[in-house]
Amino acid sequence: MEATLTFYGAAGTVTGSKTLFEYAGKKVLIDCGLFQGLKNLRLQNWADFPIKASAIDAVILTHAHLDHCGYLPKLVREGFSGPIHCTPPTADLTKIILEDSAKIQEEEADRANRYGYTSHAEAKPLYTVDNVKQTLPLLVRHEFSEWVLLDNEIKFQMHNAGHILGSALVELKFGEQTIVFTGDLGTYHPLLLNPPKHLKRADYIETESTYGDRLHPEREAIEELKEAVLKADSKNGVLIIPTFAVERAQEIIYLLTLLKYQDLIPEIPVFLDSPMGANATEVFLNHPGWHTLGEKRCKEMCHNIIIVKDIQQSKSILNSNSPKIVLAGSGMVSGGRVLHYLANHISNPETTVLLAGFQAEGTRGRQLQEGVHEIKFFGQWHSVKAEIIQTAGLSAHADQNDIMKWLGQFDKTTKKVFINHGEPMASHSLKLKIKDVLNLESQVVESGTTYSLE
Ligand SMILES: [Zn+2]
Repeated sequence: MEATLTFYGAAGTVTGSKTLFEYAGKKVLIDCGLFQGLKNLRLQNWADFPIKASAIDAVILTHAHLDHCGYLPKLVREGFSGPIHCTPPTADLTKIILEDSAKIQEEEADRANRYGYTSHAEAKPLYTVDNVKQTLPLLVRHEFSEWVLLDNEIKFQMHNAGHILGSALVELKFGEQTIVFTGDLGTYHPLLLNPPKHLKRADYIETESTYGDRLHPEREAIEELKEAVLKADSKNGVLIIPTFAVERAQEIIYLLTLLKYQDLIPEIPVFLDSPMGANATEVFLNHPGWHTLGEKRCKEMCHNIIIVKDIQQSKSILNSNSPKIVLAGSGMVSGGRVLHYLANHISNPETTVLLAGFQAEGTRGRQLQEGVHEIKFFGQWHSVKAEIIQTAGLSAHADQNDIMKWLGQFDKTTKKVFINHGEPMASHSLKLKIKDVLNLESQVVESGTTYSLE
């Protein structure tokens, strides 16, 4: 019996992860993500799924990032009704992320219809909150190292990937063979998680390659954060940190708590003004066994921040100039409450803005990173007088050394490594490295192409 892999996303790019595994008449989709970023990619979300959604038997979800789970409600609307297997934290985070995504889709369609900037008769959301409601009951929770039978010939188990809370590597057995999918692979020094699990054997491996051609800088995130806080304090100003809601917000809260306990930063109030960030923090509290913080430290950490409850509280914080640290979404300044803070404070030289993550092309975060002197939002130009700082020390993705170290733990029986989830440069550099160092055959995958596992 032949097994095949077909890549319907994250081939030549880092978003839209969807890998179809077929064997013995079964179709299993590994991840079901949205395309994000550049417009020609985003348009692909609107095309019909290339195969009949109702013909897919099951989905295995590696983690809750939108580019891995964000297409699920559309797949369900198109007729998928099978189980979506994932870890318990992934199920909880997926709920938060999909509900937010559907809300944004509905609001955007609404705005397009109201202001008439659509070429269609009526703009429709990619999917709705109702579609998400139909999707969530399909989530099936599994612990790490629990074998899940998909039929007599196919079973899988999940292991820690060290990328975000609940993220998993998938070890799938079909007949006598094994394939391992990385999903997104974490670094060997994640702040709040354990590093990725080492597995011994795999006939095939599918690996991501986001940083396949790069190494993370040696700078420590805690040092960078300390400097930013001290800088803001010396100016008696506001420190604004545009924040990704899942993992990054919790990492920063954790680091701020450490700095405070060690008396390395002064007493400044810290506000988390991100409903999604607050919900994701709750998921950390509800799953103490899934991160390295433990229950006690996790609770302590939450006592050190003020979670903004409503718009009224948000407004009063916004309008005051007293020194404070504000974490607010979105992480790349493309929307969310952080815009209100920037509107009030970005033209003030006493303000400091800390960009705490990757800033994609075409986002306001990238513009700020590149040093623009003015920036547009809410229909107005704002002059940028605030000091802009970028952290380099926080990353949820393995760099080239991490990927090579993780691949190097397998015995040398692997027949082929499939490289996905990377820009072409990153994937091809990794391919060369895999050949040179491990002497393994590998394949940089192409979108829509089917590869056979002989
Ligand atoms: Zn991810």
